[in-house]
Amino acid sequence: MTQADYRKDQANNHKEWFFTAFGSNEIEQLRNIGIECQADHQYFKNEILDIFGCIQNRKLKKLDHLYQKFIERYIELIPTFLVHQIDRVMLENDAYYAAWFFNRHCFFMELEREREKSLLTNKSKLFLWSPVIDIHSPKECEMYENKIFSSYEILLEHAVIHWEQPRRGCRCALLVLNEDNANKRIESGQYTIWKS
Ligand SMILES: [Zn+2]
Repeated sequence: MTQADYRKDQANNHKEWFFTAFGSNEIEQLRNIGIECQADHQYFKNEILDIFGCIQNRKLKKLDHLYQKFIERYIELIPTFLVHQIDRVMLENDAYYAAWFFNRHCFFMELEREREKSLLTNKSKLFLWSPVIDIHSPKECEMYENKIFSSYEILLEHAVIHWEQPRRGCRCALLVLNEDNANKRIESGQYTIWKS
């Protein structure tokens, strides 16, 4: 699936959910607090990111019956094996915890997109595991700082383990680099190749 197809798919799913979940009065209530269906907006990338933005909205939190529908949708968008692990109180009250779910989604989306691309082009790319390290990050993220993975399979193994249970504060991202760019940074010592 190309990036444009993916985005179109996401926009359609989101639109369908939005206009099924809410009646016209509710849509009006949402509009009054600045929430509208963003599916056709040029910055709309994927649904989980959009819903995450909504569940951080303080005005929406005050309209609990509507807020709960956004929470339900956020939960619907994550893999089922994670659903029973969710701490719903934290999901509603802790942005670092809630963000983990969309960060996970984006990490695997990038991985999958690159795998599909490499099957088509046969060009190898390198992956940079890019955590945010600060006082909120769990220690499990630290070992991946500035690490480059050259093997999709090894990266996938680590990704599956790293993202198998919610970790508050983990904001790991995956960046795809072309070889020249990555090699320059490896030579300069900024990045190192993951060895295991
Ligand atoms: Zn992490």
